Amino acid sequence: MRSYTPFKLPLKKLGKDGLKDCVLYTSCEPCMMCLGACHWAQFKAIYFGASAQDAKDYGFVYSKCYYQMDSDQRHKEFRMTQLLAKEAIGVWDE
Ligand SMILES: [Zn+2]
Repeated sequence: MRSYTPFKLPLKKLGKDGLKDCVLYTSCEPCMMCLGACHWAQFKAIYFGASAQDAKDYGFVYSKCYYQMDSDQRHKEFRMTQLLAKEAIGVWDE
């Protein structure tokens, strides 16, 4: 079994040894560290609210090389789709 530390507890609770049939919903586009965990988890899909650029605009700056990556390629590789961006960004305005 290959498991990454952040997913050990959820996997144990689900009685699974992997997350291939799971979908991740997150308020913001995963950073490089999170993408590493997502790579190991092999999620079926990832849905995110605010983009990495939105995060940067609000002062949550990812690594420089993250912004130099091709975002379309990243979204395709990790099967990522943006949803409810306005609502996700809205929490930073409160
Ligand atoms: Zn992250």
